[in-house]
Amino acid sequence: MLANYHTHTERCKHATGKVIDYVEAAVSAGVEILGMSDHTPFPNNSLWPEVRMAYEELDDYIKQIDEAQTKYPQIKLLKAFECEFIEDYSSFYNEVLRGQYGADYLILAGHMIHGTSPWNRLGMVKSDKEELKLYANYLVKAMETGLFKFVAHPDVFGHFYLPWDEEAIAASKYIIEAASHYNMPLEINGYGLRKPEIMTPQGSRKQYPLKGFWELAAGYDCKVLANSDAHKPTDIIAKVEEGYQIADQYGLKKVEFVW
Ligand SMILES: [Zn+2]
Ligand SMILES: [Zn+2]
Repeated sequence: MLANYHTHTERCKHATGKVIDYVEAAVSAGVEILGMSDHTPFPNNSLWPEVRMAYEELDDYIKQIDEAQTKYPQIKLLKAFECEFIEDYSSFYNEVLRGQYGADYLILAGHMIHGTSPWNRLGMVKSDKEELKLYANYLVKAMETGLFKFVAHPDVFGHFYLPWDEEAIAASKYIIEAASHYNMPLEINGYGLRKPEIMTPQGSRKQYPLKGFWELAAGYDCKVLANSDAHKPTDIIAKVEEGYQIADQYGLKKVEFVW
């Protein structure tokens, strides 16, 4: 079953193409299940509006997915959002995104952490170690809520925390143990596989996925999936196969979603 559960659109302001462009690319590529999962807006556009659709665009985003589904009944389209978890907005995720807008699932991701941010360094944390701990604590706390279907790029911290050392291993184990405990699938992210390598104390490597992370995950009872995290229509299924090769390489169990 060829599937991709992680897809953006031009609405997030750092991707290109409309819903229909991704759906047509997916149909051409033989994708059977496509989850549209653009970055969620927040009420009043209160948080990081520069990398997400405006709240006022929610209706049209959902409408375009419905229209594309009518036009292309041969593919199963799912409505989703990639979400930063903000505790104050718990009811928004549940009642608005899942309830009012009928989202099929929500993806948990850690790009922005309240009070700090791995993407946009605001100088509010003292060290990379501190930031790494904040990131791991954030993910685990969000997993506990049960609001999310899977965790996008759990090893994305590899883009700012460069060494693979005791701290990286401890943070990875904390995340993986929680995923195992809450039965929360972890994503091997194709966007990371498409990004240029960076230099670290242990040589050049991908920012993410991190080999060490997935090697550790193999020691736990956790499930994985691979997604393209497409930011342009031509990447609709890009690196998904390579993601599953990583899963196979470490003997990781693949999740089987049923819709
Ligand atoms: Zn993401
Ligand atoms: Zn994404």
